[in-house]
Amino acid sequence: MERSTIVRVHEGLHARPATRFVKLAKGFESDVELVKDGKAVSAKSSVKLMLLAVKENQEVTVRANGADAIEAVEALIGYLENPRAGLDDESEAGEGGSEAAAAPEVSPPVAAPADGTRKLQGVAASEGVAIGPAFAHFPAAIEGPGRRLQADQIDGEVERFRAAVAQVQARMDRTLAEDNLSAGDRGIVAALRDIAADDSLTGEVERLISEGDDAVSAVIGAASTIAADFSAVDDHYLNARADDVHAVGRQICLVLLGQDELSLETIPQGAILIADDIGAWDLARAPLKRIGGVVCGHGGATSHIAIIARSHGIPAVLGLGGKVNDLRSAKEVAIDGNAGHVIADPDGTARADFTRRVEAAAQERAGLKVFKGVTPTRADGTVIEVAANIGSLEEIEAAQEAGAMGVGLFRTELLFMRHMHLPSEDMQAETYSALAKAFAPHPVIVRTLDIGGDKPIAGIEFPDEENPFLGWRGIRMCLDRPDIFKRQLRALLRAAVHGNIKVMLPMVSEIAEVTRTRALVDECEAELRAEGVEHASFDLGVMIETPAAVLISPALAKEVAFFSIGTNDLTQYIMAADRLNPTVAKLNDVTNPAVMAAIELTAKAGVAAGIMVGMCGEAAGRPDLIPAFIKMGLTELSMSPASIQRAKKTIAAMAAER
Ligand code: PEP
Ligand code: MG
Repeated sequence: MERSTIVRVHEGLHARPATRFVKLAKGFESDVELVKDGKAVSAKSSVKLMLLAVKENQEVTVRANGADAIEAVEALIGYLENPRAGLDDESEAGEGGSEAAAAPEVSPPVAAPADGTRKLQGVAASEGVAIGPAFAHFPAAIEGPGRRLQADQIDGEVERFRAAVAQVQARMDRTLAEDNLSAGDRGIVAALRDIAADDSLTGEVERLISEGDDAVSAVIGAASTIAADFSAVDDHYLNARADDVHAVGRQICLVLLGQDELSLETIPQGAILIADDIGAWDLARAPLKRIGGVVCGHGGATSHIAIIARSHGIPAVLGLGGKVNDLRSAKEVAIDGNAGHVIADPDGTARADFTRRVEAAAQERAGLKVFKGVTPTRADGTVIEVAANIGSLEEIEAAQEAGAMGVGLFRTELLFMRHMHLPSEDMQAETYSALAKAFAPHPVIVRTLDIGGDKPIAGIEFPDEENPFLGWRGIRMCLDRPDIFKRQLRALLRAAVHGNIKVMLPMVSEIAEVTRTRALVDECEAELRAEGVEHASFDLGVMIETPAAVLISPALAKEVAFFSIGTNDLTQYIMAADRLNPTVAKLNDVTNPAVMAAIELTAKAGVAAGIMVGMCGEAAGRPDLIPAFIKMGLTELSMSPASIQRAKKTIAAMAAER
């Protein structure tokens, strides 16, 4: 019995839909296969299904053989043809997504100029400086004993392997039951548990054991084969599952060997943790208060490790690549999380410099604490909102600890990058609602998806572009993909019930982009009303980050409720100097008179129209520039939480001068 169909499952049979499909298939006695391009795999193995890389709108055949073959084919075809089933799955925050998949590509590390110290350049992932004893965390690779089994030992070895798998699964279930896990962590563990339970791994291990391999060697062999299959698929997100397979294999081997994973429990106070990679799972449960800094071969500024480090105020340099091995034997390490570099065994001069900077930073932090609760005002009594730039719910605590008066920029990209699917409306509504509730009655400005060819995400096919920064990004992409955009707008309308949500559009360069968005918002509101779903309206604003937006700012100001100046992009576009290109870093300077003139023009237009003018680019947190911005008429400055108290102090000092 077989039937063919076109797959309508949103974004194809990636992790969660594959798991759902397998669960359905396992409910039938019949042997069930899924066939694509002449290749048939068991529909009862999520690993095999994922490796088939079935995409939305592809033709597949479901084939069943057994007593309940008709029912099986009908049920599975029903699933494939009903895209809602796939969408529902996405509401399970983080499930099926692994942080390995979410981490953006990091640029290869470049060695900093030699200066008598071993200085390594990586990605500045969490700001701050630290110096401390090195704590190298490089769990040894497990090697199989390569023991050949006698025929009468095989059954016992299979039993031993099955017991180890059960133990690993039970441990993962216990972890999933803990309620201190974040949604992202939960997703990672759930994905690992799926793999541990998968027939293709267990089947291959048992086959190798039956051929005489000992269990540890068999697990290593099977995991390597499956991981290699994932690495070979032409899909960035499936490639990242190779790491998951290795992680599961390692857990099973440790149980078989009666060993524990190398623990982070013994890390000394103030030590710098050095690792090739640390599972977000391990780091989240480590004694974070004792960790002075984090240095990793893997990871980037938006990886889960970076988020955990930032939310705990731990300086971090990630993405060092193989260079991290140079730090294995270091006794002491100095780390600069602002510049993104690491010095192994600093010499006397570097040591003194870091010690001085660490002490100065600690002193400044202590002195700034009194500004946490200050509400800064201008001479005329107007309150200056000092808000936080954040990208995930995990960062709320740090923002509140710093004294943020709301959120001036919630970057929604991370929500999209973390998952192997586009996040569903429900999941987004939940996230934005939690954010709104956490800061109510203060405003929370959510930026609609600002993604482009430089930062690929699952579920959106980006064209190859010569200049992705001048290409299909931000509002341009969103307006071309109303399916994605409306889902976000509907989620924001639903979340607006729970607090003071405002929404802003990135990369705006013409008024039509605002009017078209407003039409979509109206459409979403009408739909929600018709569906009887609770929602509320929100203020719509724009980011000013293109020269075009600056030049039309008087007209734009009549169309929107507020401006937020994005100096990071505005500087690169005004100066025609790529913000990521170190060769033109000197030109990429917000204090250049051309950029300052653009900011002033924008402020004038906003003030004249009586709308709020704020800033959320990095410059908003610079004490040397804040007085100028306030004089121009800006009344909101949004920055990384670490800069908030210093900014409040600067504004208070302006008031004292009056
Ligand atoms: C900016 O461009 O200034 C900004 C805040 O946005 P991002 O850095 O996310 O591009
Ligand atoms: Mg920008």
